[in-house]
Amino acid sequence: MTILAIDLGTTNSACAIWRDGDAIYIPNKLGDLLTPSVVGIDARGEVLVGRAAKERLITNPADTVAVFKRLMGTSHKVVIANRTFNAVELSSLVIKSLKEDAEAFLGCPVEQAVISVPAYFNDNQRFATKKAGELAGLRVDRLINEPTAAAMAYGLHEKKEGVFVVVDLGGGTLDVTVLEFFEGVMQVHASAGDNFLGGEDFVDAMVDAALKLAGCDRSGLSPTELHQLHIKMETAKRRISGAAQEITFTGAGQSHSISVDSDWFVRVVTPLLVRLQRPIGNALRDAGISPSEIDEVVLVGGATKMAAVRSAVAKLFRRLPACTIDPDFAVVKGGAVQAGLATKDAALEDLVLTDVCPFTLGINSLDGDKGEYLEVFSPIIERNATVPVSRVKRFYTVADNQTEIKISVYQGEHRQPSKNVFLGSMDIAVPNNRAMEESVDVRFSYDMNGILDVDVTVVSSGRKYNKVIKNSPASLSEEEFKKSLARLQKLKFHPRESEKNRALLARGERLYEMSLGENRERIGQIISGFEAVLNRQNEVDIAKAQKEFEQRLEEYDLEEWL
Ligand code: AMP
Repeated sequence: MTILAIDLGTTNSACAIWRDGDAIYIPNKLGDLLTPSVVGIDARGEVLVGRAAKERLITNPADTVAVFKRLMGTSHKVVIANRTFNAVELSSLVIKSLKEDAEAFLGCPVEQAVISVPAYFNDNQRFATKKAGELAGLRVDRLINEPTAAAMAYGLHEKKEGVFVVVDLGGGTLDVTVLEFFEGVMQVHASAGDNFLGGEDFVDAMVDAALKLAGCDRSGLSPTELHQLHIKMETAKRRISGAAQEITFTGAGQSHSISVDSDWFVRVVTPLLVRLQRPIGNALRDAGISPSEIDEVVLVGGATKMAAVRSAVAKLFRRLPACTIDPDFAVVKGGAVQAGLATKDAALEDLVLTDVCPFTLGINSLDGDKGEYLEVFSPIIERNATVPVSRVKRFYTVADNQTEIKISVYQGEHRQPSKNVFLGSMDIAVPNNRAMEESVDVRFSYDMNGILDVDVTVVSSGRKYNKVIKNSPASLSEEEFKKSLARLQKLKFHPRESEKNRALLARGERLYEMSLGENRERIGQIISGFEAVLNRQNEVDIAKAQKEFEQRLEEYDLEEWL
């Protein structure tokens, strides 16, 4: 039995398995270990996932979509190539692509998966992730919190015990988690985060600062110009150093140039660096741990590769963070450990995992006296309770002859129920009686997958009601799930063997659009040359031409950024 560990990232995704006591990262059809979480549809109506789609973000923005992890758990729809998708469907296409890569790599079908999610994902987002896995044809054994996975990877890798703080800054989300690894048990003490802070925000800040210097704003740039500037800034961000990089871009019909170095960068992103403080402070406070009690600070997520982020984190903790595992792979490595645990791998026998519920879960109740009541949120399971957890609380009728109690389930920290996330409701019939004479016991059971089971017992009659919170407004119903599955099955996919050529051609087209004059002409010629070889359909010639074509594109790509 193979269980695939999937890190479904905002920007990039990865998969791995656990074999012979270690994680094995699985390459995609292009040989890369990271697959961009980008989906597109080409002129033939065929679906592209990964690098080929990412290359087309510039050339075909209306047919391509990225960063849809941020839409998980919402009913937001995205239109690409005149077709409508929701975030679950788009994520399922990425997962399907990873599943096929794993099957090609392993030479056998893969039917089960462990998928990682940000610790801060609410129930809607968790369900959406599970459904995405199921739509891709996988049974999702377990959702694992990303920081928990990363700490597991470190705990095993370093064979270390102690208190870890995992700071995971990916493309779109920040998660801070306090965990303890002791005698083979990984216990999560607290987690906090920001669902809207990630590496992409650093790029956005750079783009806005460059536009400000150039005296224009986003509306003055065409979508293609804006994409080009975004890519240039994203590349510059990866190369930030004391030495200045000259970035040229066009906007409002003019050519602009801006000098980017580490001082400029830190100035521009300081407001984002400041936003790291609060989730870190919250996680430490909830865990009741001071910075001096931490044994290791672990950095995870592509955006922690930025020196500015590292030094901001080092300053906050007054110590250098650990980064012996590539921050891009720590989560998927931990996911593979979890997959190994699920298959009862002997090398993992001594490891046990506990996790926490990231949000407070409760119901609405009435607070007040003598007919003057106010709706308030009554917590039943407090955030950061170790899961699986089951808690019960008793609630009373407030009016004479009241025959029904409406239980509305919410998730969040606000005293006003309406300011929290509504998860579902139940109508409970109670015997006709005087106020406060009838009561119900509301039991919440929250499991390792972040799924909430609500049991209500009417105390006087013993009558029981149960609800598994599944069909919250934003999650797919069974019927919608079937419809999505049918729609996705109708989509055409690129044949695997031609994927690399498609990715290369898309890259060539991007470079063609980005360059000017002689360079543009030459790129056009080499694209035509490569297409001509593809049309001849001779395998040996194609393999040779592919190498040459890639090399030439590499040269032009380098030239374009300098
Ligand atoms: P993830 O979601 O973990 O794949 O993180 C992706 C984010 O990390 C994107 O915003 C990338 O721009 C950023 N990133 C990846 N590598 C680097 C790097 N070497 N330097 C700076 N940022 C990076």
